[in-house]
Amino acid sequence: MSDCLFCKIIAGQIPAHKVYENDSVLAFLDIGPVSTGHTLVVPKQHAENLAAGSVEDACALMTAIHDLAPKITKAVGGSGYNLGMNHGEVAGQDVLHTHLHIMPRKDGEPRNFVKQPVSQEELSKVAEMIRLAI
Ligand code: 5GP
Ligand code: ZN
Repeated sequence: MSDCLFCKIIAGQIPAHKVYENDSVLAFLDIGPVSTGHTLVVPKQHAENLAAGSVEDACALMTAIHDLAPKITKAVGGSGYNLGMNHGEVAGQDVLHTHLHIMPRKDGEPRNFVKQPVSQEELSKVAEMIRLAI
């Protein structure tokens, strides 16, 4: 979809701190993280939400989450994580391209869903740490 933000990230037209990709999905850091290592995992095939996409893409997304969530959490020194998906604008979905949030949690960080200010340098550092651990 030419006017979709995440399709543009997938196509490399907009920069992002990418941490993982395969044929079906891409994972990159959220620009407004609620925790260190907050990552978005998206199917490469555009669909507005999980139910609008194929069941194969839904399975590929969950397969990636199963692999990535513990590794990303460990990479940032966390010991647990939240997974989240906002389905529909009324539920808080701002970007209408299916995405699942991985939000690692560690002691000493706020355990809420408020975006924390973060620099591009910090995001670069976190992305590199995660890439090395995957
Ligand atoms: P939603 O509210 O749709 O579930 O989540 C969309 C997420 O996309 C938000 O957490 C927001 O911070 C993130 N986001 C919005 N614009 C960009 C962007 O340009 N780059 C990246 N990496 N994340 C973005
Ligand atoms: Zn899209």
